[in-house]
Amino acid sequence: MTSEFDLIARYFKRPAANAVLGVGDDAALLAATPGTELVVSTDMLVAGRHFLAEADPYHLGHKVLAVNLSDLAAMGAVPRWATLSLALPEVDEAWLAAFSRGFFELAGRFGVSLVGGDTTRGPLNLCVTVLGEAPAGRALRRSGARPGDGVWVSGDLGGAALAVCHLNGELVLDAADAEHCQIRLHRPEPRVVLGDMLCCVAHAAIDISDGLLADLGHVLAASDVGAELEFDRLPAHPALAPKRADPLVRRCLLAGGDDYELCFTAPPEREQAILTVAETAGVTVTRIGRITDQAGLRLLDGTGRDMDIRERGFDHFA
Ligand SMILES: [Mg+2]
Repeated sequence: MTSEFDLIARYFKRPAANAVLGVGDDAALLAATPGTELVVSTDMLVAGRHFLAEADPYHLGHKVLAVNLSDLAAMGAVPRWATLSLALPEVDEAWLAAFSRGFFELAGRFGVSLVGGDTTRGPLNLCVTVLGEAPAGRALRRSGARPGDGVWVSGDLGGAALAVCHLNGELVLDAADAEHCQIRLHRPEPRVVLGDMLCCVAHAAIDISDGLLADLGHVLAASDVGAELEFDRLPAHPALAPKRADPLVRRCLLAGGDDYELCFTAPPEREQAILTVAETAGVTVTRIGRITDQAGLRLLDGTGRDMDIRERGFDHFA
């Protein structure tokens, strides 16, 4: 009789092209590239907390890896390996097949090998650890921002939060906008190539998982600096753009989580280098403000006046 572990192995045991030894022994063996530092990050998604238990397993397989790849991108690292730990309430073959398809499609795009993990019976819980490499001494840290740096973001902001508002009934989007925003929420695109290329250009970076103000706030605190942002420069998701003065839309833009764009700082003389890197990576980037030596975060309107900042990022323990 096939055990549940055999079933799980069927969906997750794949040849690990870039490992000395992948799944199947007591541990994996990985050979790091000389001259690099290993960059390691773990993120856990819990049913009922981060997603609904009935969520599409194909999207979940993508998202649980994407949020981890996003953290490596924010360090300027190239992802290489991952481990996956699953607590499953039951062994559901259709669920496992769809989940593993979503996971391996994204892993394959970035050459990430699954080299280990664990499974147990329990409330649905998904945990991925990713390992990547950055040139020794060059990984992007939150503490690297300097006064005078430009503050930049990739892509656009607020789409994932807008999808949540739509699903909660706080507003109604037309069908096309609703679909676009739900793709942002369920299938975030980690900025892997951009992060890798920013490694030698930017001073500091973070990925936007909890909202622009909250995540940029972490950079400011770690770097002991402040920032001025120009509200009119913030790149809004197209579904938000026409109504950016609406308080709900403003909240999505400034405090919406789950966008997984990169926020980074770089000295003004590297502006052209950043634009070139972004074009090569196929991602838009926008300079939204600058780092100051005065502590705190100021948000300026189109006339240069301070705007009230009451939005806060989503706090998982709130
Ligand atoms: Mg992060």
